[in-house]
Amino acid sequence: MKFEVDERGYYGQFGGAYIPEMLYPNIEQLRDNYLKIIYEPEFQAEFNDLLKNYVGRPTPLYLAKRLSEKYRATIYLKREDLCHTGAHKINNTIGQILVAKRLGKKKIIAETGAGQHGVATATVCALMGMECIVYMGKLDMDRQRPNVERMRILGTKVVPALSGNMTLKDATNEAMRHWINHPTDTHYIIGSVVGPHPYPDMVARFQSVISEEIKKQLQEEIGNPYPDYVFACVGGGSNAAGAFYHFLNDEHVQLIGVEAAGKGVDSGESAATTALGKPGVLHGSKTLLMQTEDGQVVEPYSISAGLDYPGIGPLHAHLFDVGRVQFVSATDDEAMNAGIELSRLEGIIPAIETAHAIAALDKIELSAEDVVVINLSGRGDKDLETYIRWGKY
Ligand SMILES: *Cc1c(COP(=O)(O)O)cnc(C)c1O
Repeated sequence: MKFEVDERGYYGQFGGAYIPEMLYPNIEQLRDNYLKIIYEPEFQAEFNDLLKNYVGRPTPLYLAKRLSEKYRATIYLKREDLCHTGAHKINNTIGQILVAKRLGKKKIIAETGAGQHGVATATVCALMGMECIVYMGKLDMDRQRPNVERMRILGTKVVPALSGNMTLKDATNEAMRHWINHPTDTHYIIGSVVGPHPYPDMVARFQSVISEEIKKQLQEEIGNPYPDYVFACVGGGSNAAGAFYHFLNDEHVQLIGVEAAGKGVDSGESAATTALGKPGVLHGSKTLLMQTEDGQVVEPYSISAGLDYPGIGPLHAHLFDVGRVQFVSATDDEAMNAGIELSRLEGIIPAIETAHAIAALDKIELSAEDVVVINLSGRGDKDLETYIRWGKY
């Protein structure tokens, strides 16, 4: 495959494993075993059974008639919002906990910003009876109280990160430190296509079930597995990687990644990495990164907690670099309006992350024959407070 990671863990100039020496053994063990493990027939059988009976896959590919009418194209919604726990993230956490079991690990750690990945991790740890610690910035814990309590109900220990700004970056540092100190019995579940090799590739493979299903469903629906466009929002890029994966080599399928422009790309308050970023190292890989002249990571901003990330995964940095994926961005206001619009037209209240992908319908010139698939990465229940505070509905 043309866009596959190479032996050294790179996608073009991006990727790799920039980690402290103390983490080499953990990363090497994972790197040397992940492909062998996930393509064993027994692993595949267990993974697919859980996706079907626990997560609720395949998720529907729904023809959104009223949305199609409004934008004068044929628009399908891939309903990841109907997954157990309300978003695509569980596809990955199920995959990784099965890998952890086969590596003989007894404990799981994770870090979380908004709490969505923490909840998906806590869920699979309860399912497998594994001990789980989630690191979360103290500030994020205060902002995302319901998710903290969800994790606790599920039996996970949530540990506040008290250093730095007390947000995601600090939680990541704490998780790394924990992993260095407990290398043999603990697996670290990363929640997006970010981090050192082999995480981006492993997570993309687990999420690729999304595009695998889209192809089958479109074949059944319209007699052709290829849409003209696939739209997905991009935080770290895992739902987009999953929705794009099986179309990457089919260059007639146009892939649209949608980033958060926050208060505007040039406002100084955004998370539009491809528009503003430069190559740099973040969370163990070389990628595009929002940074100052002297390389300090810029604090990102978006109304949506899941897109509020200063980088993108190295696969996406490469796909942007070579022009395979077109990146656009949507502001807070555009996304909120699109979220309300989808609610009114289709009776589906999307996650605010997902609403950014809907907002991009206004930014791409579509023609009447076009078949468009939008990856509906998650549902809006978790964002009710934000919708209420925004108030314009
Ligand atoms: C976490 C999250 C995202 C952003 O993460 P990606 O890795 O870019 O997919 C998008 N949508 C929802 C609903 C999320 O929970």
